[in-house]
Formats: sequence, structure tokens, C-alpha cells
Amino acid sequence: MSVVTETLAGWGNYPRAECEVAHPESAKGVRRAVSSAGTIARGLGRSYGDPALNEHGRVIAMEGLDGYLGFDEATGTLRCEAGTTLEQIIADFAPRGFFPMVTPGTKFVTVGGCIANDVHGKAHHADGCFSSCVDSFRKLLASGEVVECSREANADLFWGTFGGMGLLGVVLDATIRLRPIETTFFHQKAITARNLDELLDAIEEHDEIYPYSVAWLDSLATGDALGRGVLTVGDHAKLADLSPARRRDPLRVSAPSPLVVPFDLPSFTLSTFTIRILNLVLDQVQSHGASVAHYEKFFYPLDFVGEWNRGYGKRGFTQYQFVIPLEGGRDRMRTILSRIAASGCAPFLNVLKRFGEANEAPLSFPFRGWTFAIDFPIGDGLAPLLADLDAIVLEAGGRLYLGKDAFLDAPTFRRMYPRLDEWLALKGRVDPDGVFTSNLARRLELV
Ligand SMILES: Cc1cc2nc3c(=O)[nH]c(=O)nc-3n(C[C@H](O)[C@H](O)[C@H](O)COP(=O)(O)OP(=O)(O)OC[C@H]3O[C@@H](n4cnc5c(N)ncnc54)[C@H](O)[C@@H]3O)c2cc1C
Repeated sequence: MSVVTETLAGWGNYPRAECEVAHPESAKGVRRAVSSAGTIARGLGRSYGDPALNEHGRVIAMEGLDGYLGFDEATGTLRCEAGTTLEQIIADFAPRGFFPMVTPGTKFVTVGGCIANDVHGKAHHADGCFSSCVDSFRKLLASGEVVECSREANADLFWGTFGGMGLLGVVLDATIRLRPIETTFFHQKAITARNLDELLDAIEEHDEIYPYSVAWLDSLATGDALGRGVLTVGDHAKLADLSPARRRDPLRVSAPSPLVVPFDLPSFTLSTFTIRILNLVLDQVQSHGASVAHYEKFFYPLDFVGEWNRGYGKRGFTQYQFVIPLEGGRDRMRTILSRIAASGCAPFLNVLKRFGEANEAPLSFPFRGWTFAIDFPIGDGLAPLLADLDAIVLEAGGRLYLGKDAFLDAPTFRRMYPRLDEWLALKGRVDPDGVFTSNLARRLELV
């Protein structure tokens, strides 16, 4: 097994860190790769900030562990190694009539990464987080022991791992449930809203009917137009929903997109590039009102351009995602959107959703409330703006998503996650010497 020094970053290319990266290809190799001087597992590095970085320490790249260990066609239950990606699962199982139960906005993520962040998708209000589709996993602990975790066995470790950011050990493989599908298409509908109230009303109304729901809003709009945007809702298309041409290949899977951003673009191309990305998203949400869309367009419009993160240039970017309770949420959202619009920190991509109920995991991010995610390029005025927004989110009883964050400080984090002490007690029990650590762990004092 090779161990090489590499400069790594998350998807936002901020921060960057020099790490010793091991590339094991088996569970035994993972065990050998764990360094008592400090180790963290890494999937495809699609978290935006620093959870899969470990400056001057060991990072275990998990993509070599991507084998299937069993599949039950009757129940759609798949056992696979933790480095298996959703892209791979879709390519291999969609043609057989199965799709991931929960997926984030990119398919270039590993099962281990989805577990560690307890990722959510467009259907959180209907399906919950990734943990909803995980029956069990095997986990390598700091002691070298491998334990099976499920809702019945080692339940505290099972739940502590979702949102636990890889800090309780390495997930080696997992048993997950896939969703039976008739087609790889979705019927979808777009609703335009002239202001925030209309948009939030539309989300509330349509969440009762459709499992998939996501809105984009014009974050530069102010005054009466504040919060104007487009809501897209949808559901899996049945065979009968497809045109005769599509019915000939209802479980079609896409070939990889040929479009890749070849290098970090200089900042003068930033606006052109991001407008192009934005247009792709808008094309997806607006021009397909009441139509049928392939899963690539429905779930993954951003995957169409490979490595689009380079479009933000060398300084990189961050994504700020928070959730605030529904009660009083409309006014808080208005305050936050006004603050962003007035900031001059040109915001680009954004997503607004309504989450369903929280699950049992102490550090899982979602709870019943409004969630908003927005990209900001790294720039001089950004840190103070984010600190201001943190204060508003905290006062509203909300919190930030660690899968996207790179700026939050430890005291604010502690106040945002009231079950932190419960999780820290678990960490102290299974990893008393802090073998599993990362840049994020040190920043947020999760060690
Ligand atoms: C375009 C885009 C859209 C996105 N949309 C969404 C979205 O809609 N919803 C959402 O929730 N997220 C979203 N994300 C974030 C992304 O889904 C998560 O950050 C995901 O966890 C990344 O998976 P990864 O395999 O790349 O893991 P990495 O980013 O490499 O690692 C993430 C965490 O997982 C841990 N980890 C990885 N493998 C293991 C393992 N085997 N054992 C233990 N710990 C492990 C790492 O230590 C780290 O803490 C999006 C990201 C992008 C780039």
C-alpha cells in the first residue's frame, strides 16, 4: 500500500492541507493504514470544507474499497464496501430496476461519505436522511476491533456515526436498501413565486403531494421581490408516464459527461462561468414545467460539468447551509436573505428546502425547518458576513451543516448542536486517544 504526501482540499478548494494519503484496497489495508498519530477516512472529497482533511496527518482514501458483497433482488438490499459510489450503484443497479433511496445533489459520493454526513436529498420531508436506508455497517475502531453496528447492535455507535464526520472510526462496508423503480425518469412541475411568502407557501402546499421538492431563489432580489424564485417538485415516473420512445429504454443510465473544467479558472472568468452553471440549474428547474426528466437532470444538473468547482478560481469557495425552525422561520429567513443581498459578497448557487423530522443521530444536521444553502466565493469580507449569519441562525434556534462548512467556530458549533456532549462521551469511550481526527475535528473541538 502506497502512502504519499498530497495537498488535499474539499470540493470548495478551501482550505487546502498537506496530508499523508494511504490508498488501501482491502479492509486489512485500512487497518494497517490507521496511524495512531491521527487518521481520517476520505471518500471522494465532495464535502466542501475540511472534514476529510488532516494536515500533516494520515488520510485514508477509501475509493479502492468499492466491491459489492451481496444483493438481495427481492428486497433491494445491497451490501457493499464503503468506497462504493452512488454513481457506480446507479450504473449497475438502475438497469435492474433499483435506485439509491436517498441521494444528495451529486452522485460522486461514497457510501461511507453519505453515512458520515448523514446526507439528505430533495425528499427529506418524505424519506429522511441517508441513515433511513442503512440497515447496518461494519466499523473499524481505534482499538483495531471491527464491530457490526445497526439499530439493534451497538445502536449508540450506529447513530453516533451518522453526522459523526468519520471521527468514531472507519466504516468498512454497509448494508443499504435500494428503491425499486419502474423507470429512471421523473415527472416534475415548476412553480414560480414572486416573493418569499409565495415561495414558502408553495413549498408547504406541494410537500404534501410530492416527495421531491427543491427551490432556487434570486438571492439578489430585495424589497417586495425578496425571496422570489422557482420551486420544482416531482416524483418517480411510472412506465405509463413515459412517451412511447422513452418506454423502449425506461431504465436508461447516462454515459459520463464529456464536459470538464480543465484547471482553476482565473477570477475574471468567474461570473461567466458561474452564470453558465446557474443557467444549467435554471434550465433544469424552469424549462421542464409539467414534464418528464431523466434522473441526471432531475437530481444531478451540476454533475453535467465535471470539476465545476474550479470555476471559482484558486481561492475557492464555501457553501453556507443552515436549518432554522419553521416557527418564526419566515421572518428569520427574510432577515438572512436581506443581509446576504446587502453584503456585496456576490452569491451564486442556492437551494431552499423544507426538512422533515430529525432522526435519532445526535449530530445529524436536519430537523423540521427551513434549510437554505448558498455558495460564496472566498473573499475578504466573507468571514465577518458568515459570523453575522451564524449569530442570526443561532438566535433562531438553527444550525449549520458540517458537510459544507469551513468557517464555524467551536463555541458557536457547541450551541448549535445540543446533543454534542452525548456524542463526545461516545467518542471518549471508543477513541480515548483521539486516533481519528481531522482539520474539522480540531477546528470544532471534536477530539
Ligand atoms: C454538487 C454537490 C451537491 C451536494 N448536494 C448535497 C445535498 O443535496 N445534500 C447533502 O447532504 N450533501 C450534499 N453535498 C455534500 C456531499 O453529499 C457530502 O459532503 C458527502 O458526504 C460527500 O461524500 P464523499 O464520499 O465525497 O465524502 P468526503 O467528502 O470525502 O468525506 C466526508 C466525511 O465522510 C467521512 N468518511 C468518508 N468515508 C468514510 C468511511 N468509509 N468511514 C468513515 N468516515 C468516512 C470523512 O472522514 C468526512 O468526515 C453535495 C456536494 C456537492 C459537491
